[in-house]
Amino acid sequence: MTTPVVIIGTGLAGYTTARELRKHDRETPLVLITSDDGRSYSKPQLSTGYRKGKTADALAMADAAAMETALDARILTGSTVETIDVERRTLGVSGESLTYGRLVLALGAAPVPLPLDGDGADRAYRVNDLQQYADFRRAADPAQRVLIVGGGLVGCEFANDLADAGKAVVQVFPEAQPLARLAPERAGAALKQALGEIGVEVRTGLTVERVDTDGDGYRARLSDGTRVQADVVLVAAGLAPRTRLATAAGLEVDRGIVVDRYLRTSAEGVYALGDCAQVEGHVFQYVPPLTAAARALGPTLAGEETAVVYPAMPVMVKTSCCQVVCWPPAPGTSGEWHYDGEASALRGEFRDADGRLRGFVLTGKRMRERMELTERLPPVIAG
Ligand SMILES: Cc1cc2nc3c(=O)[nH]c(=O)nc-3n(C[C@H](O)[C@H](O)[C@H](O)COP(=O)(O)OP(=O)(O)OC[C@H]3O[C@@H](n4cnc5c(N)ncnc54)[C@H](O)[C@@H]3O)c2cc1C
Repeated sequence: MTTPVVIIGTGLAGYTTARELRKHDRETPLVLITSDDGRSYSKPQLSTGYRKGKTADALAMADAAAMETALDARILTGSTVETIDVERRTLGVSGESLTYGRLVLALGAAPVPLPLDGDGADRAYRVNDLQQYADFRRAADPAQRVLIVGGGLVGCEFANDLADAGKAVVQVFPEAQPLARLAPERAGAALKQALGEIGVEVRTGLTVERVDTDGDGYRARLSDGTRVQADVVLVAAGLAPRTRLATAAGLEVDRGIVVDRYLRTSAEGVYALGDCAQVEGHVFQYVPPLTAAARALGPTLAGEETAVVYPAMPVMVKTSCCQVVCWPPAPGTSGEWHYDGEASALRGEFRDADGRLRGFVLTGKRMRERMELTERLPPVIAG
């Protein structure tokens, strides 16, 4: 009997790869393994679901049994892969050994630990999967005051979502502006202003040093010595690719699991994509790159080697108070930002010394100019 294709992970990367494989190959046995319950959901909706009253169950599009039928696959839920033996092509999972023909690592990324002191630090929430979203919602429902730690895309989306739902939100982060690693200063300033206008208290240039329990809630101490009272604390301080399993198996790992444009790791027959992977030097933790990777990997697993193509894939920040879409220039690109308009109608173009477009940002009313700018950008990985 043919040895199966095994995919570890049933997030968007795992399930999209399985669907793409099935478009090309209905025969090869397919097994998916996940530590969670295997429900299919769209993770970007976790940071915009609260004000819409969406429970975790409402966000789940299909359970593992329905996905088994749709994909003609076996799905092992609540099963954590502990080891990979790339010589024998076996996995150690829940004390059993499982043989694979080809293996796909779609392990995602895990919240970066934050050095927080205090007896309430361990009770701060992170929302990186459906279960964590359910737990957070339960805590947020009775809460009046929410402290959000982090000023990136996820922290800003939650701040917007919870403020819209009527919560008093304080958002704290060390950078001078929101979205500091994604968008230029002017766009961050526009978002900061818009968050302020919907009632978010945005406190920049500060870290949270400790979180202590205080009655039914929490008291946080910030780096300037001030204190914030909150009923619930949410940390959104970044995610790091899950690489431990790959490192232990002897695969090449850098910032993520290293793969080439065919999504091949350093071990024969083992592939990686999604938030855990570093594809030709690029670690992207959002949906369009994993979709592009899955579209290439599906036919590759079916025997037709296909290289991934990455066009420029602008990132949309889903903050309704001031929408932002941006494509930051690659690190080290020399050039300058040129602006037109301001605040919620801003267009910024980052042009290099030859006047070529290398990045852009749009806010609010200028969002409709997105396609025109995207088409002018060079691809990240050309075909
Ligand atoms: C709140 C939030 C909002 C976002 N919004 C956007 C957005 O608007 N637009 C956008 O493009 N991107 C957004 N992103 C990013 C995007 O959602 C992710 O890039 C994408 O979902 C990652 O999918 P993945 O399959 O790689 O990882 P995950 O969804 O993390 O899946 C990882 C899977 O691996 C399994 N797993 C891990 N280790 C093991 C193991 N050892 N054994 C068994 N199973 C294991 C897990 O159980 C899980 O099933 C957002 C992310 C968050 C957290």
